[in-house]
This record gives sequence, C-alpha cells and structure tokens, in this order.
Amino acid sequence: EHTTTWKQLNDHLSEWVRASKVHTEDGHVASYIPELANAPADILGICIMDAEGNTVAAGDTDYHFTLQSISKVFTLILALMDNGEEMVFSKVGMEPTGDDFNSMLKLELVEPGIPFNPLINAGAIAISSLIAGNTPDEQTQRILQFFRELADNPALDINQDVFKSESDTAHRNRSLAYFLKHNGVLDREVDDVLQVYFNHCSIQVNCTDLARMALVLAHNGVDPIRNQRLIPRRFVQIAKTFMFTCGMYNASGEFAMNVGLPAKSGVSGSILTMVPGRYGIGLVSPALNRKGNSTAGVHLLGKLSQEFDWSLF
Ligand code: GLU
Repeated sequence: EHTTTWKQLNDHLSEWVRASKVHTEDGHVASYIPELANAPADILGICIMDAEGNTVAAGDTDYHFTLQSISKVFTLILALMDNGEEMVFSKVGMEPTGDDFNSMLKLELVEPGIPFNPLINAGAIAISSLIAGNTPDEQTQRILQFFRELADNPALDINQDVFKSESDTAHRNRSLAYFLKHNGVLDREVDDVLQVYFNHCSIQVNCTDLARMALVLAHNGVDPIRNQRLIPRRFVQIAKTFMFTCGMYNASGEFAMNVGLPAKSGVSGSILTMVPGRYGIGLVSPALNRKGNSTAGVHLLGKLSQEFDWSLF
C-alpha cells in the first residue's frame, strides 16, 4: 500500500497543490503581529516524509516561517517529560475548547481557574512556566535543544524580529498571563514566562522540519530514521489526543470531520499533521480563514485525506 500511495503522491502532489493554491485568495495573512503581516499571501508548500526519510514535496518548499502555535504541542511534551502527568494536569485541563481570539479571558479557564487545555494560549503560557531551567534563557535553550533533536536539525533557531514584534504587541497574552499569575497557576514571574512563550512561538522552520517533527509523533515517539526513542509513548498519545480535539482552534471539529488526522496549526499559516504509523506532514500557506487556519492548507489536506482514505474513522 505504501508503494502505491508514494507513487501517487509523486505523480500528483504538484497538481493537487496547484488546485488548492487558488484558495489562498479566500484568506488573509495574520496581521495582529506586525512582523507576520509581511508574509506572502499567495504561497503554498508541503512536505510529506516516510519512515525511511524519503520525502515528496511540492509548491513553495523553500519558504521559512515561525512555528507559532505548533510549538505548543512540543512544549507540552517537554513539560510532561520534565514534570510528569500529574503535575502538568494540575496546571492545565484536558477539555477541548476552541481558542477564539475574541473570547473573554474567563472562557479560557475552567474551575478552579486553570486553562481548559494546553493548546489554547492561556494553557500554553502555563506550560511555558513548567519547562525545566533556572532562567528564561535556560528554559529557552532547553526547548531549542529538544526541537533541534526532533527536527534532526541543529540549525533551528529563533527569529528575533518575530520575537520582538510578538513581545511588543502581546497585550492579550500579557493579560492572560497576569490572570494566570493571580490564580496561582504560574510559579514564575509573568515577564519571564512570556519570554519563554514568545521564544518558542518564534522558532523558525521550513516544511521539511515540520514533516520531520511530525514523523516522530506518527511513530509514537520513536524517530524511525535514526531508530531512537525521543519521547515516551504515553506523552505522544496525550499530545495527539489534544491535537485531534483542539489542534485547529475553533475549527477542530470540522477538521476532524473533513480530514480526520491529529493536526496543529499556527498563525503563520503552518500545519503539522501525520498519518499515524506512516507519514509526517508539514505545510505552510500564510493566508488564513476566519478561524485562523490556512485556507489552502486545509483544502489540500482534505483532498489528500479523501484521496488516500486517511481519516482515522
Ligand atoms: N504567538 C502567537 C500568539 O500567542 C501564537 C498564535 C498562534 O499561532 O495561534 O499570539
């Protein structure tokens, strides 16, 4: 089956990318962070990687972008590795509620005042505070080292322009963080926690890096190329469950129905997803729909899922 799928991907991916690309016109590049507003609206790139590290790629695959919310999946995993399940879930909940950028602060919190889940902003900020390290710099270095390992790319680094832009304009995130501090969720200083959060959102990658990171999740924490376990299986299971129930903001239900794969998107127009047991997939197309997901990207994944019957159900 792999051979047939791989051949079809090689034969048709470019044509499917072209067909989805027109949907970039239905969306808009995120502009609430000034540096993100500079992204080209009309591009679409995708990379699919198999367990041997072979790739099929099409479209604008050279484009670099920042991880944004996709980083939340991997900081969650790192927080679980650093603190264990019990500790992490005393600070964030397990319930899917969409991240809506217009929502009231209260809507991000479940009783007794902890965020609903680790993928909404409030939850991810709480998770940033749990990464091991004595200072924000140490925590950031730890995150970078882990992400470099997962992407098998020692050159991964922070885009300082995006970091600065993000940090300068993050009034909503700041208010969320202060509210968490007030509720006793953060054991560190608000500014320190936010520094770590903005740093991991600003890590720069390309589609191949995303596909490589996704591949490790697709194989339950084992890097199938180096044949090395990088993450305990249970923590990948937790991460994939959150991706499925809340990885695509308020459109997670719709995505689950139309694509049926665990996925996480970011406001840079990036999406990381996978075919469990098989492929890692990374794509980028900065024009977003009203729910904050890449218009062309969601369209392309719908097409692929349909074509290869990839839905888990
Ligand atoms: N850095 C972004 C923020 O917190 C992440 C947004 C996202 O990708 O959803 O505003």
